[in-house]
Amino acid sequence: MISASDKQLLNDRLEALYLGADRFFKRKFERPTLTFRRSGRHAGTAFLQQNRINLHPVLFAHNREAYFSDVLPHEISHLLVYQLYGRVKPHGKEWQAMMREVFNCAPETRHEFDLSPLNIPPAYAIVVIAETLT
Ligand SMILES: [Zn+2]
Repeated sequence: MISASDKQLLNDRLEALYLGADRFFKRKFERPTLTFRRSGRHAGTAFLQQNRINLHPVLFAHNREAYFSDVLPHEISHLLVYQLYGRVKPHGKEWQAMMREVFNCAPETRHEFDLSPLNIPPAYAIVVIAETLT
């Protein structure tokens, strides 16, 4: 469903973002595993204790740019906040600061995706970028 070269591109982007975080905090963070499973209307999900990020392969295929520019920084910020501060509000001030200061991203929790491939009625076609799970 997702090609080896796309997996490589996403892992390269992940590594670049982590190098930025390593520099910012002057420590080396353990890199998470990336998985690619369908996950309803969730573009991505951060599994804090497993140090894993799941990306929705169908939404990725139709919204590629957003995954590199928004979804990966969003999910990585959840993992980093958990490692630095433990359990705090998922999109609270620590997470927002991580997005802004470390990744130079707007700390948004929703994003306009093209959901037509999922066959969801338009009234429900709002995707949550991520929910934090354990
Ligand atoms: Zn989130």
